[in-house]
Amino acid sequence: MSRSATATIHLDALRANLARVRTLAEGAKVMAVVKADAYGHGLERCARALADADAFGVASIADGLRLRAAGNRQRVVVLSGPDAAGDLAEMRRLQLEAVIHHDSQLAMLEAERGGDPLKVWLNLDTGMHRLGFAPERAPELHARLAALPAVDKAIVLMTHFASSDEFDNELTARQTQRFFDAASDLPGERALSNSAALLGWPAARGNWVRVGGLLYGLSVVEEKTGADFGFEPAMTLTTRLVAINRIARGGRVGYGATWECPEDMRVGVAAIGYGDGYPRSARSGTPVRVGDAPATVIGRVSMDLLTLDLRNAPNASVGDVVTLWGPQLPAELIAGHANTISYELTCGVTRRVLFAEDGE
Ligand SMILES: *Cc1c(COP(=O)(O)O)cnc(C)c1O
Repeated sequence: MSRSATATIHLDALRANLARVRTLAEGAKVMAVVKADAYGHGLERCARALADADAFGVASIADGLRLRAAGNRQRVVVLSGPDAAGDLAEMRRLQLEAVIHHDSQLAMLEAERGGDPLKVWLNLDTGMHRLGFAPERAPELHARLAALPAVDKAIVLMTHFASSDEFDNELTARQTQRFFDAASDLPGERALSNSAALLGWPAARGNWVRVGGLLYGLSVVEEKTGADFGFEPAMTLTTRLVAINRIARGGRVGYGATWECPEDMRVGVAAIGYGDGYPRSARSGTPVRVGDAPATVIGRVSMDLLTLDLRNAPNASVGDVVTLWGPQLPAELIAGHANTISYELTCGVTRRVLFAEDGE
């Protein structure tokens, strides 16, 4: 028996979401962030659907290699840059661009003896304190990079926001101010915004936006779904019902016997579990759909199976399609029941799930 768990990727949604990003970006260039296998949607298929993007953002040279192997010729930016000396040669060979965020990387570049000009994005840490140089150093660093024969003169200045999903959090305004102050005397394009900043912080627009989540129709803004901002979820995760059992009042369901039936009732069993990427942290009460009817998770999520309360799905029968998330059931809603964010859900879909595409 083959398993039924299927992630269907909606290529038309990806395209529509990119078009909407462009509208919101008001002329800024769009870097489509496709790290982590395009947030679990599949790197190659998403790069194909998002071919109109001005650049792609990846987390590793290996992902850049996959894009080139798939025939992608667009700009590709490695968001954490080189971390070993051999990386620079590989990035040149693949024509990847490098985010430079640390002195160790600058030392690697300064130790080189020439080569084709590498395109560089200079990352300034304006307050997130993860990657990036102190903003005061921007003029010195820019001058050192610009002096290198093997670095392209068109250096892009970038920063990354810690809290842009909180539309009233002044940290983003302070980060924006610090960035523009530090960059004020320097030439080149500016790149500040991620998805949430594109939605909530127009003053941070700059010349480039770096957008991941919204392209997949996902939001990290609290209490909001991608659809609330006019984006369409690009993944539907489904499986099938493999059993329906009548359990008597007082019967307990699943590992740990954590859920007790309050009455005689039908309990459904769906062929999906944490081995497929459905979060084990999803609590009893997490919504699913069985056919067109609402149902909820009861008991613990196990590796291969999920138990469901079918009291509101009286017509459910074995073989019915069970939807875990998708356009009718926002991943943000599921994430809220599982103490996580929608990005982690789609990133977490595992290799044993069948991937399908719809749209051209
Ligand atoms: C992941 C990432 C993004 C995209 O963030 P979203 O919230 O998905 O839009 C942008 N910039 C950098 C540096 C990133 O690492």
